[in-house]
Amino acid sequence: MKELFALGLGILFSLGLSAQPDFGFEVKPYKGAWLEHYMHLHQNPELSLMEKETSAYLYDKIKSLNYVVRKDEKGYGFVAILKNGLGPTLLYRTDMDALPIEEKTGLSFASNAIVEDAYGQLQPAMHACGHDMHMSIWLGVAEYLSKNRHLWGGTLVLVAQQAEEIGQGAKMLLDWGLYRLVPEVDMAIALHVSPELPVGTIGLREGFMMANVDMVDITVYGRGGHGANPHETVDPVVLAARLVLELQTIVSREISPIKPAVLTVGAIHGGSKGNVIPDSVVLNLTLRSFEEEVRAQMLSAIQRKTQALAMSAGLPADKSPKVHRRDEKVEALYNHPPLVQQLREIYLDSIEVQGKDSTKKKMAKTPVVEVDPQMVGEDFAYYGLTEEQVPIAMMWLGSVSKEKYLQSQFGEGYLPPLHSAYYSPDYENTLLFGVQAMLKAITGLMHVDNGKSLRERARSQQRSGR
Ligand SMILES: [Zn+2]
Ligand SMILES: [Zn+2]
Repeated sequence: MKELFALGLGILFSLGLSAQPDFGFEVKPYKGAWLEHYMHLHQNPELSLMEKETSAYLYDKIKSLNYVVRKDEKGYGFVAILKNGLGPTLLYRTDMDALPIEEKTGLSFASNAIVEDAYGQLQPAMHACGHDMHMSIWLGVAEYLSKNRHLWGGTLVLVAQQAEEIGQGAKMLLDWGLYRLVPEVDMAIALHVSPELPVGTIGLREGFMMANVDMVDITVYGRGGHGANPHETVDPVVLAARLVLELQTIVSREISPIKPAVLTVGAIHGGSKGNVIPDSVVLNLTLRSFEEEVRAQMLSAIQRKTQALAMSAGLPADKSPKVHRRDEKVEALYNHPPLVQQLREIYLDSIEVQGKDSTKKKMAKTPVVEVDPQMVGEDFAYYGLTEEQVPIAMMWLGSVSKEKYLQSQFGEGYLPPLHSAYYSPDYENTLLFGVQAMLKAITGLMHVDNGKSLRERARSQQRSGR
């Protein structure tokens, strides 16, 4: 996203330093209640698969807004449905989980929660990925649309999903039968806070938005012994060190330079003492890609290089390194171009509606930023990967205060990324703009003649790399 910074000042000046873009929804009367949701959720984070109280909080609020709610009894995910006459069926998803990180933002309402993880271990917890903001915006949208039904038509399907951070929650809901329990879904949308874009901006992209994620563990075997007599051993520490470097040549020398790929060795575990050569060393890797072909190429190169390593060390076949692909993979997130095109039109259109007629002014006020894809993963991808072929789109929502953003453009200050103990959005502005941005998108998409045609267009689109 470095390129984003190049857009830097341009974005900020185009937004105007003081004015917050406004889509004309009367959200002020709700502000207090919505901020309360945010404070509560921020201070009460729960980890993946453990979102019991979070889910109950959302459930109670949404039930009181006259939604029909159905719960996945195997977990804490649920779906809330509101029918409002003719129009398409739109699914809008929020995630609910926090991360095992001790918050260091220094905020007066910082989380100091210590909670149990899914393995029964106590962990500090923090909403370092902004899912508290996602939920607060989602609740705000749910309330506003329930109370202002003249603004839209169709069926709203609001999904509260758990366990996004471990890439399991979306699959759990879809396996539960989400798409069979609700009317036929014409489109699905979601947003994610951006730690790089200034508040008041929306990042859009057609096509691949986030990457395939694979987690691979490699156990390198050797023959242990005394550190003073390495010639009597096969040293797996040396083999592992060589392997780390060898693996780096997969992306740099084997994958086409115009196809994005990442191979990171994030952890090495082996040995206990300086004078003991261990029997084995374990490497933990993550792989990122967009195209299936690139993904397969990386996985097979890892196999080949590990086999070659054992052979070069003179190890027998049964001492070849063991490559284990964890069941933690996430598929790449593909934003359906026709849906993104509609969203872009909806946001640009709003500028005209406000009476800014000159082209220059129209461009100057647009809150939309075209963004690059990222190598992180998002399990929202799965809502578009079932046999129903639902068109999906995820948007970035700027969350950096304008002051901090401006400083960062001059090389001052530091913008903490997502998953950082220091990440904190400009919460009040992000929340109010986020609700407005979602209301703008949903009321723009949910009108009588939209939906079916979008589905058809999405289905006929060539989806590159799939
Ligand atoms: Zn995250
Ligand atoms: Zn996230």
